[in-house]
Amino acid sequence: MKFNTKTIHGGQKHDPAYGAVMPPIYQTSTYAQSTPGGHKGFEYSRTHNPTRKALENAFASIENAKYGLAFGSGLAAIDAVIKLLSPGDEVISTNDLYGGTYRLFTKVFEKFGIKFHFIGMDNAANIEAYINEKTKLIWVETPTNPMLNIIDIKAVANVAQKHDVLLAVDNTFATPYLQQPLDLGADIVMHSATKYLGGHSDVVMGALMLNNDDIAKKLHFIQNASGAICGPQDSFLVLRGIKTLHVRMQRHCENGKAVAEFLMKHPKIENVYWPGFENHPNHEVARSQMKDFGGMLSFTTKGNDYEASIKIVEKLKIFTLAESLGGVESLSGHPASMTHASIPKEEREKIGVVDSLIRLSVGIEDEDDLINDLKQALG
Ligand SMILES: *Cc1c(COP(=O)(O)O)cnc(C)c1O
Repeated sequence: MKFNTKTIHGGQKHDPAYGAVMPPIYQTSTYAQSTPGGHKGFEYSRTHNPTRKALENAFASIENAKYGLAFGSGLAAIDAVIKLLSPGDEVISTNDLYGGTYRLFTKVFEKFGIKFHFIGMDNAANIEAYINEKTKLIWVETPTNPMLNIIDIKAVANVAQKHDVLLAVDNTFATPYLQQPLDLGADIVMHSATKYLGGHSDVVMGALMLNNDDIAKKLHFIQNASGAICGPQDSFLVLRGIKTLHVRMQRHCENGKAVAEFLMKHPKIENVYWPGFENHPNHEVARSQMKDFGGMLSFTTKGNDYEASIKIVEKLKIFTLAESLGGVESLSGHPASMTHASIPKEEREKIGVVDSLIRLSVGIEDEDDLINDLKQALG
């Protein structure tokens, strides 16, 4: 089955009770047993729920995985992965990381004795210097937020395999429409399904996809033991979202390209960060591991003025100023005052988050309306 069919049919069966084409929302915590242990595969909804199961099958299918697991948020999914580790273990992570992931690693798991190294992975050879016998996991995010850096997944996977270390990839920005990290050698794929997989800004959810039987068993154990599951209503919504992932992504990519090219030519713009430009430092890697370049981009304005950038995001009408990304509607964000406000100015500027940086999640509205909106806000 090809990807555009998998989004709709992958892992799905018509409901056995009445043949419902969409899996019913099984809003139940428990299941009747005819005799102790006499059940139809479902005992208690923290452990299993038929609606969540249908979604987990879809998760597995779209990432070419054997197993899919759904969690109450992206961070709950990451939390489950780190719980595979023990005190004393070490993790090597990309340094340009989603803020919530960084907070979970440093403020929650460091105090349980897990050590994290945050490094640049533009060159996969950099990783080897940090690997020792305690290294158990490499954590990669690509493209990164908000600078749209690209990391070569295959190159990192080669290093991970050579040293027998697990590789997990946060595939939230790219989605499996653009890149499939398991096929490139990763062991675990993670998603904030809140973003493109859900796609409609109406649910918070996380996902893990993987092939290894033993690790899948451990993650299922953690999912049930820790209990950070998602409910059947939310499972239904994300399952519905996935059915249009491929058509939404195609339009996100088209609109992203149009907006990036418009901004590049605008006299008030200094830099546009979008991996589709030939002069993007990792353009060749992006071309080889991604099908297209996605709907996320960032830009800075000449003069690098904090107040002027706040004015721009306030003046945008179709682009809503909001946290999050990946929904059908276009969103804007000002990292220096929003997502990265807690990071000291000198620190955030080292990774490129300067005062005038604006991040756009380009939605699937009409391209002309989006460009006209930017034109009036910049003008
Ligand atoms: C949003 C996001 C997360 C966290 O996911 P939640 O669903 O908000 O918990 C993790 N990684 C990336 C790249 C994200 O954009």
